Amino acid sequence: MGHAAKPRPRPNHLVHDTTRESVMTEPDRAARRPRWRRILLAIALAFIGATLAVTFDLWTALGKIPRGEHRDRIAASPQWTGDRFDNPLPQAPMPLWPMIKGSFRGEQIRNPAEPLPMDTIDPAVYDTPPPTGLRLSWMGHSTFLIEIDGQTILTDPVWGPRASPATWVGPARFHPPPIAIDDLPPLDAVIISHDHYDHLDYPSVRALADRDVVFHVPLGVGSHLAYWGIPDDRIREYDWWDTVDLGEVTLAATPSRHFSGRAPWWDKSTLWCSWSMVGPQNRAFFSGDSALFPGFADIGERYGPFDVALVENGAYNALWRDVHLGPEQAVAAFKMVRGELLVPIHWGTFNLAHHAWTEPAERIIAAAEAAGVEVFVPRVGQVFEPTTRPKWTRWWPEVPWKTMHETPVISSSLDASVLRHVPGPTKLP
Ligand SMILES: [Zn+2]
Ligand SMILES: [Zn+2]
Repeated sequence: MGHAAKPRPRPNHLVHDTTRESVMTEPDRAARRPRWRRILLAIALAFIGATLAVTFDLWTALGKIPRGEHRDRIAASPQWTGDRFDNPLPQAPMPLWPMIKGSFRGEQIRNPAEPLPMDTIDPAVYDTPPPTGLRLSWMGHSTFLIEIDGQTILTDPVWGPRASPATWVGPARFHPPPIAIDDLPPLDAVIISHDHYDHLDYPSVRALADRDVVFHVPLGVGSHLAYWGIPDDRIREYDWWDTVDLGEVTLAATPSRHFSGRAPWWDKSTLWCSWSMVGPQNRAFFSGDSALFPGFADIGERYGPFDVALVENGAYNALWRDVHLGPEQAVAAFKMVRGELLVPIHWGTFNLAHHAWTEPAERIIAAAEAAGVEVFVPRVGQVFEPTTRPKWTRWWPEVPWKTMHETPVISSSLDASVLRHVPGPTKLP
């Protein structure tokens, strides 16, 4: 008690007070300062450790710029301009400031207020092959399990929490994945459309690393996979129009009009593509990300008609009209590839643009009706056989949205032969 009653100078942690320190006795220092130091040191170490862990994970998720053999294959591509991959059509300028401003301002309801009504998938469903030979399972966004004529193909697998290199910042999922990635059936192929975060997801690639499955990717993208531990013999890189046979199904990397890259300061040496799957009974088209361009008609001519076409229909805006289709141009792309059932994808999972989160569905239904094409809007987690024309019901809430006349999206440099497929306006106001 005598010790506690002894008057002590009050330590001042904010100001280094040498006068007070000078009157402290040696036992005081021994009793007080090392303890503070230990606590501060522990906090500092924990902070540095957490920062390093997060930074390392973020750094790893950025991926790897192609080098060596990967680079040689890139240089031989007709799509390679000498220092970057490019589209055959020019890209209209994207005004950065309005794009940034728009992502913070605006009255649109861009995220669901309630948990989405969705299906969860019982893995046992995959024990029985689909009678029609073609069955689709929508995992959300552009992630589909496609069972086609005996082959099981997974598209752009995204099971991670965010469309971002970081787990703590960036667009978060609207819904949990409808099935755990480890509960997927054996896969014959994983196909990747390009290396943007909402299509090439580091946690998902890691989760698939131990499976005996080949990743089919556009040129350059294999560098990311190799860096993340996928063995070279399980990576195949494709230029546009390259094909491979998977059993009886021909898989073709087909063109798209988009861009790529996981960090803005990196070189543009990864390609983007769509994928066509052509089996003896069934044909499926997967658009990846794309703006409208005449290449869709070439794909339709070479590999159509498609029993089902999965066409991107979200994250659109007139400010970046040469990057995404938007609903009306999705209908045009669908007609050009000669699709028979239109399934909109790339919506309902992430907030990546300025439109209301339900607008892609509302607008594509209107545009499909105007164009007289058949559309199927699955619930997240829905497993369906498209050629049986299953029923679907509207599952999303009514929230305000803009029509094709209020906020049209029309890609640049298109001629009448392409524009005639677009229902609605064919000019920006
Ligand atoms: Zn993209
Ligand atoms: Zn995307």
